[in-house]
Amino acid sequence: MYFDVAIIGGGPAGSAAAITLAKSGHSVAIFDKSEFPRDKCCGDGLTTLALRLSEHLGLSPIAVNEWKSIDKATLHWEGGRSATCNLPDEAGLYAAVVPRTDYDQALIDLAQDNGVCIFEGHGLESITIQSEKPKIEIEGLGPVETKSVIAADGMWSPTRRLLGLSIDNYRGEWHAFRQYFKNVDSRAKTLHVWFEPDLLPGYVWSFPLDEDRANVGFGVLRDGQIPISETGKIWKELLQRPKIKEVLGNNFEPDGRYTAWPIPARITSMPISHGPVLFVGDAAAAADTLTGEGIGQALLTGILAGESIAKQGGVKEIATRYENSVASELNADHRMSLLLQKILSHKRSARYALNIATSTKWIRRNFVRWMFEDYPRALLFTPKRWEKGTFRRQGTYIDRVEQ
Ligand SMILES: Cc1cc2nc3c(=O)[nH]c(=O)nc-3n(C[C@H](O)[C@H](O)[C@H](O)COP(=O)(O)OP(=O)(O)OC[C@H]3O[C@@H](n4cnc5c(N)ncnc54)[C@H](O)[C@@H]3O)c2cc1C
Repeated sequence: MYFDVAIIGGGPAGSAAAITLAKSGHSVAIFDKSEFPRDKCCGDGLTTLALRLSEHLGLSPIAVNEWKSIDKATLHWEGGRSATCNLPDEAGLYAAVVPRTDYDQALIDLAQDNGVCIFEGHGLESITIQSEKPKIEIEGLGPVETKSVIAADGMWSPTRRLLGLSIDNYRGEWHAFRQYFKNVDSRAKTLHVWFEPDLLPGYVWSFPLDEDRANVGFGVLRDGQIPISETGKIWKELLQRPKIKEVLGNNFEPDGRYTAWPIPARITSMPISHGPVLFVGDAAAAADTLTGEGIGQALLTGILAGESIAKQGGVKEIATRYENSVASELNADHRMSLLLQKILSHKRSARYALNIATSTKWIRRNFVRWMFEDYPRALLFTPKRWEKGTFRRQGTYIDRVEQ
């Protein structure tokens, strides 16, 4: 079996890379150990970045089973303060909540429609590199011949491990819990974020879904205020906190079990290429270290890896092209996120920052656009990325059909 490019993992990063390559005429296969639709422990929040890239790839909201458009976010912080920030009322969509079972399935279907061969239930078993040529073995399929491998296999990247490139004891920068609930109160029909002082710079979220359901969860920094061994206890207690109950109501019940998963967010220090292997998404630790959002970054790195291979060249040339493109798209934003994370780590500076960020209607609107990644974290400090109209861009899916 031969493919120009073999992609390990069919989450957003793998599908984005596959669609990009297939559109440029390459033969591509995705190998995933899971069968789709498969769940991924996630808040299911699609930022403007994720939506813009989904649209760029050709994904239609109509192809997605459940899709909840978001037009505002309510923030809650210390001292009982809260503020509702409306997303811009210019045309188009700036945020959405889409269960990952549905979103990832729709992307896989789109990849297939573009000619990508999908092998579900077939995980990577071994990978070696000889004279810059990858040799891979896939469970149940045997050896697969290819010129390039894209490792899109998530936080624990078996590709990285099999190549001996894992970082000792690395468990991600964030640790996050998520559970679906039903019978939530009408207040939980919009998006809420609570900056609880004991979790800072972490936060709690409630992201609305159809039929009085919500995706509720919280994330904390692994080396933050709370030992990770305590987070299970906190999760149970958190849902009883009055500020949170006030939104979820008195009748909410679990609609599935809770799950927890790490979030890797160290793009500037994680090696993202190894000979003919390029790492993307969580396998490249590409998530935003300020918020833990990683779908937009998974799509972006997947597209950049696909474009780097599609432009042809030798193994080193492709790897350098990919590394440079990721550095110019994400490194300044990562450093900015680290700085802001420090500000949000302390009660007093977090309170000060949130008071300012929500002080006027204009600031609130631009803050929420920035929070939802409508423009890159460090855009103000990277003028080479400024384009006419950057701060007044319309939303996404302007002609979309309402679900
Ligand atoms: C609790 C929580 C909440 C989050 N909330 C949000 C949010 O609201 N918004 C946001 O933008 N981000 C969020 N994130 C981050 C986001 O979930 C990830 O950054 C994103 O899923 C990364 O996508 P990916 O394609 O790189 O990896 P994944 O989505 O993890 O996909 C990896 C794929 O690799 C496959 N795989 C694994 N091993 C093998 C193998 N041996 N062979 C073949 N395939 C293999 C897996 O089956 C999987 O399909 C959250 C994360 C957590 C933990």
